[in-house]
Amino acid sequence: MHPAEELENIAKRHGFQVSEEQFAKHMDSVDPIAHLRHEFHYPKMSDVAHTDLSLVRNDEDCVYFCGNSLGLCPKATRKYVEMELDKWAKTGVQGHLRGELPWAFCDEKIDDTMATIVGGKPGEVVLMNGLTVNLHLMMISFYQPTKDRFKIMCEGKAFPSDHYAFESQIKLHGFDPASSIVLINPREGETTLRTEDILAKIEEEGQTVALICLSGVQYYTGQYFDIPTITKAGHKQGCFVGWDLAHAVGNVPLSLHDWGVDFACWCTYKYLASGAGGIGGAFLHEKHKDNQFPKLLGWWGHKMDTRFVMDNVMDLSPGIYGYRISNPAGLLCATLKASFEVFKKTSMEQLRAKSKLLTGYLEMMIEKEFGEENNKTGVKIHIFTPKDPEQRGAQLSLSFSIGIKDIFKELCKRGVICDERLPRVIRISPCPMYCSFHDVFRFIIYLKDSIIAAKNTAVNGC
Ligand SMILES: *Cc1c(COP(=O)(O)O)cnc(C)c1O
Repeated sequence: MHPAEELENIAKRHGFQVSEEQFAKHMDSVDPIAHLRHEFHYPKMSDVAHTDLSLVRNDEDCVYFCGNSLGLCPKATRKYVEMELDKWAKTGVQGHLRGELPWAFCDEKIDDTMATIVGGKPGEVVLMNGLTVNLHLMMISFYQPTKDRFKIMCEGKAFPSDHYAFESQIKLHGFDPASSIVLINPREGETTLRTEDILAKIEEEGQTVALICLSGVQYYTGQYFDIPTITKAGHKQGCFVGWDLAHAVGNVPLSLHDWGVDFACWCTYKYLASGAGGIGGAFLHEKHKDNQFPKLLGWWGHKMDTRFVMDNVMDLSPGIYGYRISNPAGLLCATLKASFEVFKKTSMEQLRAKSKLLTGYLEMMIEKEFGEENNKTGVKIHIFTPKDPEQRGAQLSLSFSIGIKDIFKELCKRGVICDERLPRVIRISPCPMYCSFHDVFRFIIYLKDSIIAAKNTAVNGC
């Protein structure tokens, strides 16, 4: 059942209209994970930049729809960080082996939770570096171009960092990016990719492709790709298939092991709320545990029991543990642990169930207010994220019929925090972990007011 239908049913059963405020409040009152919002510091109107306190109440929560860019700060983060600072202050180097997160193994203390969230087996997942660095490290192994098979296939509008990583890896091996990157683009007049077109492209070009590397959830369109089907199709053509899960991890349930994905990388500061520049994650499938692929080595890849013998004879840890290079940052593991403690109070399945309804509600409200029929603002909004809930996560990407610069400014005045992509696109992501149905309700009002205010400014400005 599409969430829209489910929402209509719930409204009918309780005698509400989906569009009335009481319905949003009802949905929050029956949301089994509504209380998790209080595990986070939710920014107040008075604290966020650019709010106009003549338009909103200063003690009210802002509308935070930017968890796809930077997750909110869990309240427990301060405690976990302070524990590490205390330990350092009191015991110096001994902190490597003491406390809840002994720094020498602080990543290993939490990588099982990480593995659960991405559907990896223990030992298939590590925490290290940042996302783009991990992508490079995995490509050192999985992008080994030959005369006949030298291409990297990715989506046409891949995230810039990924695109630069692909280009530089290609150049590193002496190939030409212009002829070595295969871009998968949408059909004329469409914005998202059809799975059938991705599969056709793989079948058509696969024989010359060394590596297929797409994002799990596309940062711009919010499209959630069919990871198992695409992975299988790539393997059939003899390609390696890796995934950038920056926008997928903590957003949608993943089963990386069962899907047979070769490798994956992600950051943890988006839906996983570890704080800006948080420690990155990487997955290497068990089938590659004893691979002899080229890799870049450091002392942290050495087996633990003999690492500190320091005889300069590498005895490499198997699997993804062998890819670790430097000693991990205790402070970064502390912030991620704080977030994991909240994730442990729910499950990806429960988050996903709420997310489908929450984003479905947002979609319905936008269609009701800014679709063809009831639109009183004269500004049309087109949602170009797939309508199928299985093909998207929390995020919706909105394209406006007019430039959004002034509308976005007006949204900021009303304490709506989201992402602007000039000239006409706004990306919004109600994160199921801490956003409510009432946030969506308030967003719609603020958006309507913002459009009207922006149009008035435009008229007065002429
Ligand atoms: C957020 C994001 C990044 C950011 O990379 P960092 O190395 O963490 O700075 C890269 N790729 C994608 C697809 C992203 O969404």
